[in-house]
Amino acid sequence: MKYFDAHDHLQNYRSKTGTAVELKLAAETGVEYMLCNGTSPGDWAAVLALAAEHKGVIPCFGLHPWFIKEGAPGWLEVLEGFLARVPSCVGEIGLDGSQNATDPARQKAIFTAQLRLAKKLGRPACVHCVKAWGGMMETIKEEKPGPFMFHSYGGPAEMMAEFSSLGAYFSFSGAIMDKKREKLRRALMAAPADRLLFETEAPDADAPGWRGGPAGIAAVIKAAAGIMGKPAEELAALSLANGKKFTEHIGG
Ligand SMILES: [Zn+2]
Repeated sequence: MKYFDAHDHLQNYRSKTGTAVELKLAAETGVEYMLCNGTSPGDWAAVLALAAEHKGVIPCFGLHPWFIKEGAPGWLEVLEGFLARVPSCVGEIGLDGSQNATDPARQKAIFTAQLRLAKKLGRPACVHCVKAWGGMMETIKEEKPGPFMFHSYGGPAEMMAEFSSLGAYFSFSGAIMDKKREKLRRALMAAPADRLLFETEAPDADAPGWRGGPAGIAAVIKAAAGIMGKPAEELAALSLANGKKFTEHIGG
């Protein structure tokens, strides 16, 4: 089987050797490529270097809502410089109503500026959204971005049809393994087949007691297969094809 890991943060492994071990394992497992997401100006160079060193690592550059304080004057121009240098996506960007929620107006301004940059450059965007679904819908409707994905989707199943009509893909993480996340499992069942993606969020994972590295995408897809009653082979092929469509216009 061949796999696509729609979202990870390889730059967060503690050592270069650690990253290399994880990537070797991923290659042996059949992970064809992955989206490695930067989160603030401080890690964009590391993401760029990882992508240059490892085939199959697609870099994404963005200012994450948790790190808006790290957006020093001129950060948006620096971001555009990184995006212009290599085929890449904009991410990780978004809205978060649970952490760093003290300044929702600034969060929205920063998110909006990056959605506009993605649109200007014709790049897809990787979006984080936690406890901010109303504001997210409003922003997406106002900005009408190109293709974007919700990474580790955790929103209501009921919003998915409208989001997908606005260009959304839905990526599911190891959190689906948590039997208590009934609402999340319903969302997985409701995802349109042509917008379905899976991710590991490596080196972190939001599944209790599970941590997989990018090779762990096989376990995430196996869990999804169990919930959806579909063969894992079918979901791996489907999400790989969807990933190729999502990254069709990343430049280069
Ligand atoms: Zn992330």
